[in-house]
Order: sequence, then C-alpha cells, then structure tokens
Amino acid sequence: PASSDADEKKPGKAKKGGVVEEIERLRQQREQRRRKMEEDRKTKEDEKSHNEAMGLPGDVDFQRMVTQFRTDSKSGKALSPIMGQGAGGKGSSQAVGIWVCVRKRPLNDKEVGRREIDTVTVVNPKCHVHECKFKVDGITKFLENHHFAFDRTFTDSTPTQSLHECCSRPLVDFALRGGGRRATIFAYGQTGSGKTYTMRGMQSLLCSDLYDGLEGNPHKDDLDVSVSFFEIYGGRVYDLLNNRQRLQVLEDAKQEVQVQGLCERPAKNAKDLHDIIEYGHSVRTTKATSTNADSSRSHAVCCIALKLPRTTPLPSPPERKQLVPQPPPDKFTVYSKLTLVDLAGSERAQDTRHHNRARRVEAAEINRSLLALKECIRALAVESSSGPPASQAGASPWASPSGAGGGAGGGSGSHIPFRASKLTMVLRECFVCSASRTLMIACVSPGMASADHTLNTLRYAARLKETPDSPQPAG
Ligand code: ADP
Ligand code: MG
Repeated sequence: PASSDADEKKPGKAKKGGVVEEIERLRQQREQRRRKMEEDRKTKEDEKSHNEAMGLPGDVDFQRMVTQFRTDSKSGKALSPIMGQGAGGKGSSQAVGIWVCVRKRPLNDKEVGRREIDTVTVVNPKCHVHECKFKVDGITKFLENHHFAFDRTFTDSTPTQSLHECCSRPLVDFALRGGGRRATIFAYGQTGSGKTYTMRGMQSLLCSDLYDGLEGNPHKDDLDVSVSFFEIYGGRVYDLLNNRQRLQVLEDAKQEVQVQGLCERPAKNAKDLHDIIEYGHSVRTTKATSTNADSSRSHAVCCIALKLPRTTPLPSPPERKQLVPQPPPDKFTVYSKLTLVDLAGSERAQDTRHHNRARRVEAAEINRSLLALKECIRALAVESSSGPPASQAGASPWASPSGAGGGAGGGSGSHIPFRASKLTMVLRECFVCSASRTLMIACVSPGMASADHTLNTLRYAARLKETPDSPQPAG
C-alpha cells in the first residue's frame, strides 16, 4: 500500500506536466484544423471564382457531386432502381397506344444569372433528378438522386426537329392512314419548362409534314383539312379563332361531346394551317396580358381534322378573315384527327393556398383536370394493351401499327372517367376511339430551384403507363 502512495504522487506530477502538454497538443490540433479550414475555404473560393470565370453555376460541392454522377453514369456504374420502368421498354406487356417522353430545356439566362446548378441528367431513355440536400447536422451536403425511365428522353441540346422526327412524325403518318384515327399530343410540365416552345415548334413541322404526306394520299383531292383552337380556362371554353368567344360543351344522347359553335377554319396548304395556329397562339398570349389571365392557367387545345365529304361536295372555303361556322358535321366523315394540347402549368394545381378565392378555384380546376387526364390515359393504356397484338414492332415508337377502322369505339371506353373534367370531356373521342395514339411530352426545367416541380412532373409522367391498381368494372 505504501508503494502505491508513492506511485500515486508521481503520476500526479506527471499529470501536471501532461496537462500542459495536452493543452499544447490540443492547441496545435486546433491550429491545424483552423489552417485546414482556411485552406479548404480558399480552395473553394478559388474553385468558385474559376467556375464564375468559366460561367459555371454556384454551389461548388453540389456541382462537383452532380458532375461526379454524370461521370459515373457514363462509365456505366450501377444505378439505383428506376421509376416508370413500364415505360422504359423493359419488354413486358405494354400499352401500345401511349408514348411518354421527357424533354429537358437548357438553363435560361435568369437561372444562369442566379448561378443555379443544372440538376437534371438525361441519358436516353433515362432521366435523373439530383436533389441537393443537407444531412441532419445541417452542414454535410449530399445529393438525393431520383431515377426514371421513359420511352424516350431528350437532352437540353436536342432540337425540336429531332423530337418531331422521333415522336410526332409517326403520328402524322398514323393520321394519314385515315379510318377515323386519332392522334393526340400533350405537353405537360411546370410553367416555363418549355411546353409552348415545344408545341409551337412541333406544330409548324407537323403542318408541312401533313401536306407532304397528303401528296401521295389516294383521297388527296377530297380531303378537307380544318383546324380549331380553343382554350380551357377555369373550366370554361374560349374559342381562340373567334374572338375568344365563350363556348358551351354538350354531351348528346350518344355520349358524344360537342363544343357548340366552335370555329373550324379550313386550311388549303401548310402555310395556311401554320398561320391559323400561330394566330391562335397570338390571341392566347395577347389576351392573357390584357386580362391578367396568363396562359399558365389554361389548357390550349388545337385540333387538326382531316375529313372526307360524305355525300355533298365541299362548300367553297370561307374568307380568311370572315369566321364562318363550319358546315354541319354530318356532311363529313372524320378521316382522322390530330389534337395538340398545351396543358396548364402543373404547379398551378398546387396553388391551393392562394389568398385569392378565384385563384384557388382555378387551381382546384387545374388539379382536377390533370388528375382526370392521368386516369383517362391510364384507362386507355389498359384498353390498348388488351387490344390487337403488335405485328410490326420496331420502326414506329408505337409497337402496334394496326388499329381498327371506325370512329368512336362502341363498347370500349365505357370505364374511362372522361366526365371528371372539362378537359377530358372535350378530349373524350381521343380516349374512346379504338384507333388512337397518344404522346405525352413531359417538359422539365433543369434548375436546382425547380427540382421539386421537376420531380412532380416526372412522377406524373411515370404513372401514365402504369395500369390502375384496381381497374373499375365497366358501367
Ligand atoms: P411553358 O409554356 O412551359 O410555360 P415556354 O414554352 O413558354 O414554357 O418556355 C419558357 C421559355 O424557355 C421561353 O422563353 C422559351 O423560348 C424557352 N425554352 C423552352 N424550351 C426551350 C428549349 N428546348 N430550348 C431553348 N429555349 C427553350
Ligand atoms: Mg406556355
């Protein structure tokens, strides 16, 4: 025990010296850490100023992680499970009538000015969204990557021409085969994601393709091409080719939906068709600014109809400026129809906490219509996947080149919930027609600030080709 006393005193002395040493050691460590932090900060600043000089976006860490992801995905490093695989061409039984694509637009000047990071990576047919996040410590940054696959994805450098050749030209060819075929193109996405840009670009390419295709058509001399263009705003329909006149939508005894008094303007050639459509677009934008009713809150529906006279010859086309209502439809039979729908900004559907009641009502209407559209397309997917088997898969994006003749399919479509919104109601024939093809273009903004909306858009698009969990029985 005595020795133990002595032993205890010695370490006591040593402890004293040890404490001083310990303090010094800690001080040095602290100094080292401080130097390291200072160095890191300087490196980051250098990198940042380098990036700025190179015109690269802001947050260096996130930017580095996104760049790393792109390098990894190029070198084929394994990626996490993918949403929307049904659309990714996995070879499983698929809906033939629906094609879902994604188009990413380039960062715009504003986003570049804000030094926003480009958080969307497109590697056809995949699309990855990188959410920039912090761990619970509030300091450590990490990327949450979301993976999707579609029928086709287009990068921000893909011109509309390529999109058209890949997606909308096959639809023009489809429509030119007649037999009451219906081709419908939707542009979905948040405001500013490029819906109108894509639609307008496609429309003008489609116009010339249509007339080129008509050249070799056996009905060339009899086919009458006409166009109607209207807007659905807050559940009300306005004619963009007739002073934005308000129109009524009626469903007749045969369940066929009519937009009463809708102006249908004949187009003799591609330029005519293009000019009429552009006129509609200009009405949409000018009216929007003058009435504080911006286009992000309305759906624009442009319908190009190819018709054959049934019994009587075609009346002479009316003057361009004189907007004469169409001749009674029973004098014609629909050869085919191409419908292009520029949807309301998808973020508007969530605008439900707005202080203005009118805005809330509008938002609810948009929400209802986009949900109804999704359900109708999903129901359509069920219908078409149980339809005729593919016989010439490959060349066209749509697996089956066939499609029965007649117009609105008799017994089919009975469980398609088209009545749930004005939008789906006016598009009823696109859903119930037995020979229909639908193209959905999901437009996304690349900026970091849009990541939430981008994710919502891609989730919506991915759901379109999934069949409903519990299909409702007919009737
Ligand atoms: P939305 O109709 O979805 O609200 P817009 O089509 O009006 O969006 O596009 C917003 C802006 O972005 C426009 O100025 C448009 O010219 C531009 N833009 C959109 N997509 C592209 C693209 N793929 N390439 C270049 N600019 C684009
Ligand atoms: Mg638009």
